[in-house]
Amino acid sequence: MFLSHTHADHIQGLPFFLPAFDPGSHLTVYGPAGIDRSLPKAIGGQMDYAYFPIPFDEVPAKFDFVELGETEFAIDGIGVRTQFLNHTAPCLGYRVTVRGATFVYATDHEAHANPLWRPDRLAGAFDPAFLVHPGDVAHAAFLQDADLVLHDAQYAAADYPVKTGWGHSTVEYAVDIAVAAEVRSLVLFHHDPNRDDAGMDRLLATATARVGASGVALRVSAAAEGDDIVLDERGSAEVTAGGPHAPRLPTRARILVADDDIAIVKVLETILATDGYEVETALDGEEALEKASAGTYDLVLLDIVMPRRDGIEVCRRLRAHERYRATPVIIVTAHTRHEDMVEAFAAGVTDYIRKPFAVAQIRARVRSWLTRSATPAN
Ligand SMILES: [Zn+2]
Ligand SMILES: [Zn+2]
Repeated sequence: MFLSHTHADHIQGLPFFLPAFDPGSHLTVYGPAGIDRSLPKAIGGQMDYAYFPIPFDEVPAKFDFVELGETEFAIDGIGVRTQFLNHTAPCLGYRVTVRGATFVYATDHEAHANPLWRPDRLAGAFDPAFLVHPGDVAHAAFLQDADLVLHDAQYAAADYPVKTGWGHSTVEYAVDIAVAAEVRSLVLFHHDPNRDDAGMDRLLATATARVGASGVALRVSAAAEGDDIVLDERGSAEVTAGGPHAPRLPTRARILVADDDIAIVKVLETILATDGYEVETALDGEEALEKASAGTYDLVLLDIVMPRRDGIEVCRRLRAHERYRATPVIIVTAHTRHEDMVEAFAAGVTDYIRKPFAVAQIRARVRSWLTRSATPAN
């Protein structure tokens, strides 16, 4: 059983999952570790006495848990690759390959670019500008050439202004990323609980029209309970042998936060220190550069506009240091002008966070960046 993350809507079925009550069952559950508790603790917690009569350790089936970061492994000839998605908790997508057929499960994911990606693209004019953000480039690469992608499409572009930062995709983004990745079949998933069937039909019509305008042969449908989808085998395929690499974090990750707004510095320091990281702060670009040069940090957060050196300039200089070649460097900014962001990525910036930011998103992203950079690529 592969879990993207442990938010309630993804695990609440488990206490009612009949095989779990068969003493002959042996279930292996794969998923990311939570920020403040392990995968089994996060799942077992929902079976606390206040919520459920049987504690998790009394469930008859045998359970094994495997915590994952970004990794690639095989189970009985089935190839599995994982990649972090952009959500409000550490959340994994799964790319599964069996006898040449590839299925990607990518839900609870929001476009990395904001507002670089343009939901208002003209009919037929697929705008590659939305792939400026390295996070979206990596997401498209994760979906590349898949036979079937089950993708988050909770919102329509019209819903998005009030749902930005909630960790979900618009149908427009789901279609555009599938078109960019040359996916064969897209299934819209993670339907908004407030959308009725007629609303789903309208969402699907939006998707179909957008695919039609792009001129590519992408099949698109909306997931429905009871659906079975059969993929044709496409010959044999190389499957990476061996088990998953366990996710790793630096023992006590060191993070540098630089912003001339003392309130932002204090908020970030409090959030990150609560999650167990060691946090150093700087109030301008020069101080950030001095501190970074004097010490070693696993992650650097830089305000884009600071006195004495802006965040992009600090990043450019950090990248010249051998030990900061691969360190995640994140720009914190209230304005994401297209030209500034293109310049930022050219300077080696890993990602940006828009102000005002949601605490859950900061926690999830920091954990994903740290896990990704600390786990060796296989
Ligand atoms: Zn979620
Ligand atoms: Zn969800």
